[in-house]
Amino acid sequence: MANDAFEKIKSSFNRGITSISIKTSSSLEKGKINTYIDSLENEIKKIKYDLGEEVFRAYIEEDEDRDKINAFCSKIKESYDNIDEAKKEIEAIDERDRKIFGEEEKLRNSGAPMEEDSVIFCDKCGAKYEEKVNFCRKCGNKLF
Ligand SMILES: [Zn+2]
Repeated sequence: MANDAFEKIKSSFNRGITSISIKTSSSLEKGKINTYIDSLENEIKKIKYDLGEEVFRAYIEEDEDRDKINAFCSKIKESYDNIDEAKKEIEAIDERDRKIFGEEEKLRNSGAPMEEDSVIFCDKCGAKYEEKVNFCRKCGNKLF
């Protein structure tokens, strides 16, 4: 389930979609998985109740139905396994986001500055400008 979404998000990212939309799809995707986990947890509670009823019936009637009890237990086990898997999917989403945003952060801090925080040096006198200037204020050299 989450894998499809993962591929979708990955290809969106490759097409240059912003971090915000990745964060949004990640939290939507995680929301869906959490809802799924909740439903599994409710399912487990219900089966445990039925299991308890069955064990009590067996006690009263002195007629233990092992197969029935095993079937309840294996359903519970299956639901727990599905919860573990779903939690791993959430971790994978978080891990992927950490990677994506980590790469972005690295790019921002590396030698190649991004558009918004680029620095200009005058090639004549070496004066440094952090904002856009047309002429060097020190030597009058044309910068653009
Ligand atoms: Zn200059």
